Formats: sequence, C-alpha cells, structure tokens
Amino acid sequence: MIPDLKQFEVWFITGSQHLYGEETLRQVAEHSQKIADTFDKSKHIPVRVIYKPVVKTPDEIYNTLADANITKNCIGIIAWMHTFSPAKMWINALKALHKPMLQLHTQFNRDIPWSSIDMDFMNLNQSAHGDREFGFMVSRMRLNRKVVTGHWENEQVQQKINIWCRAAAAWYDWQGAKFVRFGDNMRQVAVTDGDKVEAQLKFGYEVNTHGIGDLVAVINASTTKEIDDMINVYETSYTLVDSLKKEGNQRQSLIEAAKIEVGLAKFLKEGNYKGYTDTFEDLHGMVQLPGIPSQRMMATGYGFGGEGDWKVSALVRAMKVMASGIPGGNSFMEDYTYHFEPNNEMVLGSHMLEICPSIANAKPRCEVHPLGIGGKADPVRLVFNVAAGKGLNASIIDMGNRFRLLVNEVEAVEATNDLPKLPVARVLWKPLPDMNTGCTAWILAGGAHHTGYSQNLTSEYFEDFAAIAGIELVLINEDTKLYNFKKELQWGEVYYQLNKS
Ligand code: MN
Repeated sequence: MIPDLKQFEVWFITGSQHLYGEETLRQVAEHSQKIADTFDKSKHIPVRVIYKPVVKTPDEIYNTLADANITKNCIGIIAWMHTFSPAKMWINALKALHKPMLQLHTQFNRDIPWSSIDMDFMNLNQSAHGDREFGFMVSRMRLNRKVVTGHWENEQVQQKINIWCRAAAAWYDWQGAKFVRFGDNMRQVAVTDGDKVEAQLKFGYEVNTHGIGDLVAVINASTTKEIDDMINVYETSYTLVDSLKKEGNQRQSLIEAAKIEVGLAKFLKEGNYKGYTDTFEDLHGMVQLPGIPSQRMMATGYGFGGEGDWKVSALVRAMKVMASGIPGGNSFMEDYTYHFEPNNEMVLGSHMLEICPSIANAKPRCEVHPLGIGGKADPVRLVFNVAAGKGLNASIIDMGNRFRLLVNEVEAVEATNDLPKLPVARVLWKPLPDMNTGCTAWILAGGAHHTGYSQNLTSEYFEDFAAIAGIELVLINEDTKLYNFKKELQWGEVYYQLNKS
C-alpha cells in the first residue's frame, strides 16, 4: 500500500550552451553523468536518479522539461548549471514545468587545484556563477524550488536531496488520489471541514462521500473464512485480553471488529482509495466504531481522519509515503489532555481509538472497552505506549484564502505512569520550545486538534512539501519567539493576499 520509492525517478538535468565547444561540453556531460549515477546508487537517495543529456538551447530545455511533465513516475527534476546557461533560454520551459524542482548548487571538483588551475578549469567549473544566473530566473519567475548547496559527494547534501525526493514522492502520490469520507463532517465542527474543491485544485486529490450504508453492505458480505483469517492475524500479531480469546465472553466483539476490517479493506481496495474518514455520529448499521480496523488500515499505509477530517487523512497518507522505509512511524493524532505540573508540562496525545500501531513501542495489547460516546457496542482497539524521542505534529488547515501547514516539533517522553482506566493508545510529548509558547503559537496559528504525528520526519520534509504544494508553512520549534511568531502570521496574511499564483 505504501509505494516502493524506487519505482519513482527524478531527472538530473544539466544546463549549458554551445559557446563552450565540443570538448568542454563532452566533459560537462561526463561529469553530469557521474553525479547522476552516484545519486542513483546512493544509499541516502530513495528514488532512481536519471541522467538526461546536457541541454544547450531553448528547444532542448523545453523538450526535456516537457518530457518530465508527461513522464509517468517522474516525480521531479534536479537542475544544475555546471557551466553558464543563459537563463532567458529557460523561460518558456520553466513556465511549462509543473513538476517539483530542486536546484543543486554544486561543483564537480570539490577543491580548487591550486597548482594546476588554469583558464580551461575555470571554463569548466562555472556553477558558482552559472547557478546564480539560473537562480535569478527561477526567483524572478517566483517559482518555488529547493536549493541545495554543497559538494555532491557530501553526505549532508545527499540527505537534503533525499528529503526533497520523499516530499516529491508524497506530492506525486497525491495527484489523482482518492480519499473517501464515510458520512459527512462531525456536526458543527469547523476545523475538520474546508473547501474540497480548492483542495482538489491545490493538492490534486479528490474527496468524495459515501453513505455509511455503502460500507456496511460490503462489511455484511464478509465470509466466515475471511473473518476467521482476520482473527488469526489478530491472534498472532497482538496480545489478546482473556475476554477476546476463543472462549472469552466478549469474543463476539472481536468477530465484529474482524468483519468490519474485512469489509473496510475490501471497500478501500476496490475503490482504489488512499485514505478515508469516518465519524461516530454516522455509524448506521455498524455494530461498533472501527477501532482496530482503522488502526491497522493506517499501519498498512492508508490515511485516516476521525470525525470527517479529510485534510488530516490526506496528510497522514502523505507522511507515510514520505517516510517509506524509514524506521519509526506516523499516525493520526489528537491533542487530548494537558499535564500542567510546573517544570514538567506535557500533552497527552491520543484519540478515541484510532492511533496507528506503527508508533507502538512494544507488541500492542488487543482490548475491548466501552467508548462512552456514539451509542454503539464496545469497540475493540489496540492499546500501547509510544517511545520517547524527537517527534512532531503537523496539521493542515483551511484559512479561507489559503491552506496552512503547521508543524510543531516536540519531544516525546516515556510514559512513567500506568493509565489503567484509559485503555487507548497514547503518547506523551513536550512541545518545543516549551509548553506555553508551543501551545500559544499553535492556537494563534489556528492549528487543529487533529494532527499527523511523526517519529521519523523532520520539519524539513514539511518545508519541502509545502514549497512543492505552494502553500504556507508555519513552523513552531526551539527558535520560536511569540512576538516574532505573531509578526510572521501577520506578514503571511499580506503575502498570501498578494501571491495568488
Ligand atoms: Mn477527534
């Protein structure tokens, strides 16, 4: 369900011009090929990197970028000006480009060869000014791109390229993606709602609703064999409480949960969906709110949002694609309850049920308890704690004239207390820079209570993703000062009124 990133390619495109003559252009091509091959084989870069012949004329540039636009599985381009490539030649091609771009500001030779440097060397190693000429044009055209500076063999340079590739892969995954809402938004809730038409224009994914009855029909068509097989998976993967075991008095609840999961998985697969939402206010015909089924759908790579929150469902999906193959997990999350103990303030994050076991610190327990909301039978859920360490919460909100991606870096802390009467998956974290500043900033920015929680993505992923999407990114981290933060929000208001592109 989470795509293998090696099926994606980025094109390595080197700009030059005919002025240099055959011999220099031959060397440009050779160097360019070497860099592309190194990236292609690099353990830091998760996608294929494809060398493209050096472009030297407006036609060559246009044709190469136009090919990138229409080539399936090409998720973006890396542009590098080894020599000088007059940037007016790039205008029409850049106007037409609609795939993400990274401008690599590197040089083939790491060091200046002090004793042998001559004009031939200078003619060849010109990215210091070639990349500036190109950079001017991209900035003059107000095009977003990531600029990565440094020698191409440097590990940090390749890591930065890695992050951008993953953001580009998640963006690619969104184009034409389908998310399904089972039922509508939770009644009267504001932040989970938003403009789905604008989202499709801006983000490329569509969100459509199915009445819960459409799902219930598929759930009810589950066969005994399918349900038994699912229960087998539960029994081998998790520690079941006694009441859910074979002779347990709540075994029927487990059977119902398995039946829901069989139907849900089938519905999502047949509809080619990449994520979904549900709401406890609309469960007609369902015996219990999907707990373990939603948890496990997320673990296989589906986006999920509670209460009809389609924006967070799509975001969780994007986070899972960005993090493909990296240790650690990503989950739907909700800021639930605060601990205001002086000098030890923290947030308890959870949801009614639906936290992804990809962030569990140990084999989850499978339990069944009353929900106290929604008026349905007791739902089965996976219960676990989450490891300490760096993490972040991300939220996409609809500000009316734009989408805002908000990120708060956090420090997850080890749960030292048992929570015997809170049988849900949960995580404790301390927001950066501190509880008061972090939460105040989040509130001021209008961040939702629903987020995507990540253990393995840094804010740079979201910076790159927001730039590709052309939306606002607001970051709350150790450097956040409230006075400056408020100004940043005000400046953003002006910027997004002026920048309609
Ligand atoms: Mn919620």
